[in-house]
Amino acid sequence: MNLKIFDRLESEVRGYIRSFPTLFAKARGASLIDEDGRSYIDFFSGAGTLNYGHNNPILKRRLLDYVESDGLVHGLDMATLAKKEFLETFERVILQPRGLSCKIQFPGPTGTNAVEAALKLARQVKGRTNIISFTNGFHGVTGGSLAATGNSKFRDAAGFPLENVTFMPYDGYLGSGVDTIAYLERMLADRSSGVDAPAAAIVETVQGEGGVNVASTAWLQALEQVCRRHDMLLIIDDIQVGCGRTGSFFSFEGTGISPDIITLSKSISAYGLPMSLVLMKPELDIWKPSAHNGTFRGNNLAFVTAKAALLHYWQSGEFQEAVRRKGNIMRGWLEHIVNGYQKGAFNVRGRGMIQGLVTDRPELASHVSARAFENGLVIETSGARDQVLKLLPPLTIDDAVLLSGLEILEQSVADVLGVARAPINKIKFINFRSGR
Ligand SMILES: *Cc1c(COP(=O)(O)O)cnc(C)c1O
Repeated sequence: MNLKIFDRLESEVRGYIRSFPTLFAKARGASLIDEDGRSYIDFFSGAGTLNYGHNNPILKRRLLDYVESDGLVHGLDMATLAKKEFLETFERVILQPRGLSCKIQFPGPTGTNAVEAALKLARQVKGRTNIISFTNGFHGVTGGSLAATGNSKFRDAAGFPLENVTFMPYDGYLGSGVDTIAYLERMLADRSSGVDAPAAAIVETVQGEGGVNVASTAWLQALEQVCRRHDMLLIIDDIQVGCGRTGSFFSFEGTGISPDIITLSKSISAYGLPMSLVLMKPELDIWKPSAHNGTFRGNNLAFVTAKAALLHYWQSGEFQEAVRRKGNIMRGWLEHIVNGYQKGAFNVRGRGMIQGLVTDRPELASHVSARAFENGLVIETSGARDQVLKLLPPLTIDDAVLLSGLEILEQSVADVLGVARAPINKIKFINFRSGR
């Protein structure tokens, strides 16, 4: 495999090519195929951008029809048919059934564009500069979002002071016995704590880049209470774990919390096309016309595929049910790995179809990821020390492919540990899991 042009010409900043060093030529569903025709199962899905798989045929048909008909590709934020139909569908299929009333902003196309807009709006609404963010949070790498991102790998590259954000411990950060919301409450209530009154708190319900850390429902509810008590907005960054990843369209569904602002990106276009959204409670929409603009707001191709995905996957509960079922399969297999190999070497955490195999030492996860790639599986590490193997298969993955991927993962764990695979009864395993 010749990757010399990338070494010679592409900046040193390149990242994933280093973990998965091959030349990918094609992709379909949960498969990536390289130039030599070698096939890999994708447990990465563009970091949660390809929830409906690569080149999903249902979405591809709509996209090709739209391009063929000379539908607008670019239109700044002018009214287009594709945008109108997306808005109508999003309102009817997602907002109304969930009783959500909000205004929708189309910022630039990437996740960090949505976060920048959300933070800017929160600061305008409250007339305060400080924002509460959480340890291990990841919100993007442009100035405002980067200031709210914990990992020093990203922060060290900023080149200027990252300010106006105060970090607080996420759920479980100080050990399972410590109530980190009580700490936050104390810091905010005490006007001598040194923490400036914040405009908002921004949080992920499951930290994707931060190592698959899961906030409990009780923690999220308590956070919302703190926000209400201290007149702060609650921003849920659902960029990675929204759009069905945890088993519901929004990751916070079922917690009873009512975020003031929600950011969506990654899988909202459903096809890997850049698109992001900021949803805000109507009364917060104090933007002046064009006060926050951008050339690439409103990717019409993305509107077409986004609408098609909402119509196809989200009009009934069937798809969500399948996500939960497959999430249980993943969880069960990971628990088998935790229990079947070196005691204490692994742990598991996650929700729905984002699951993390947590290792007790960083090299272990990286070695397993590298070995998995050799064995035909693309799986990323996450967390501050890259100590977590993050499983993020397409939500549409077939059971058989999902099981093959899990088998490769387990084989790679066994290879790295230099032991034989622990016995597992695959057939009994699926029946047991799907019966729950
Ligand atoms: C990926 C991600 C972002 C940033 O999105 P980009 O498109 O990479 O700018 C922000 N927040 C969360 C939770 C993410 O996972």
